[in-house]
Amino acid sequence: MLSKTMQDALNEQINKEYYSAYLYLSMSAYFESINMPGSAKWMRAQYDEERAHALKFFDYINDRNARVALKTIEQPAAEFASPVAVWETVLEHEKKVTGSIHKLYEHALKENDYATQSLLKWFIDEQVEEEKNATLMLERFKSGGNQPALLLMLDGHFTKRGE
Ligand code: MG
Repeated sequence: MLSKTMQDALNEQINKEYYSAYLYLSMSAYFESINMPGSAKWMRAQYDEERAHALKFFDYINDRNARVALKTIEQPAAEFASPVAVWETVLEHEKKVTGSIHKLYEHALKENDYATQSLLKWFIDEQVEEEKNATLMLERFKSGGNQPALLLMLDGHFTKRGE
């Protein structure tokens, strides 16, 4: 059985993962609006990934015979200054998520909750990937600068994600 404080903390994390999903879906709409379908598709795939993260916590709480509590999802930004600004936001956001996963892990260590530690190890590794990818994308878009031709070429490259 999960402790009440761990249950509450994991429920908070479900909400954060859904907020991530919502943020990336909003970014997908932004990219659609500026005619960058490759980047829009990329963000939509991120949206799916974040929902899968939320469900991993959801399933885990149920598996431990604890109780899921779904909360209000905060409204994400709808407009962004530029594609580069989007990737800056992604990197910042993922760093914040890494911080909250690490806090959960510290919590699980304090409680000697080995099962939750094991679950969180997957997320710790996942966050290394998320930050790596966000950094790579940000650097690529920065090097494209505001040159429309380069940005469109970059965008075309991303249409292949998930195929
Ligand atoms: Mg996530």
